[in-house]
Amino acid sequence: MRYLDHCIHLAGGGSQQIPAGKVVCVGLNYRDHVKEMDGQVADEPVIFLKPSSALVPLEEPVAIPVEFGACHYEAEMSILIGEQLGDCTEEEAAKAIIGVGVALDLTLRDLQSQFKQKGHPWDKAKGFDGACPASAFVDRAQVGDLQNLELRFTLNGEVKQASNTRHMITPVLTLIAYISRYFTLMPGDIVLTGTPAGVGPLSPDDQLTLELVDVVSVTTSVVAR
Ligand code: ZN
Repeated sequence: MRYLDHCIHLAGGGSQQIPAGKVVCVGLNYRDHVKEMDGQVADEPVIFLKPSSALVPLEEPVAIPVEFGACHYEAEMSILIGEQLGDCTEEEAAKAIIGVGVALDLTLRDLQSQFKQKGHPWDKAKGFDGACPASAFVDRAQVGDLQNLELRFTLNGEVKQASNTRHMITPVLTLIAYISRYFTLMPGDIVLTGTPAGVGPLSPDDQLTLELVDVVSVTTSVVAR
């Protein structure tokens, strides 16, 4: 499995490689997804981590484990952090964002359900090797309002997830400031901003397209790991 250093495509042309850090994710950040999971909107963001070993390039075939039950896609906007952020303000968070992309928060849903029932941590269900296929990043300077971007996921020609980042329960800057109270964010860390409704299982040979409209679009396929 080839792990990822982040590639960021710069506004002036060219690209830069940045060593991959940890991935900090938020669960249940779109109301329609909370509903499909039979969850309740939490008082505070639900935060979890994926290790850097979960990161793989989305541009290559997505290798899913097939021995642990259903592996669900969750399409999300991803944010690349360029500066150290500890207990930061939203203004500091805004200045530290250097890239915007898309990523899959792959989730072993059967395992996650079992862990939730038992009250156990769900790390194995969301942090396994390859659990975070992530696109190359687009320079923040080339992207407009982070809270008004169309996010779309197409599986075998059928649109499964379509929403706008304006529907996030906790918007990006608030989320980063919140995360930084617990986990110092370092250059090369990624924040995944949650998935809208429409999640479901992946199977080998699936064709998928993940887009942040007018920012980035990646088409890839699924293989068994
Ligand atoms: Zn997610």
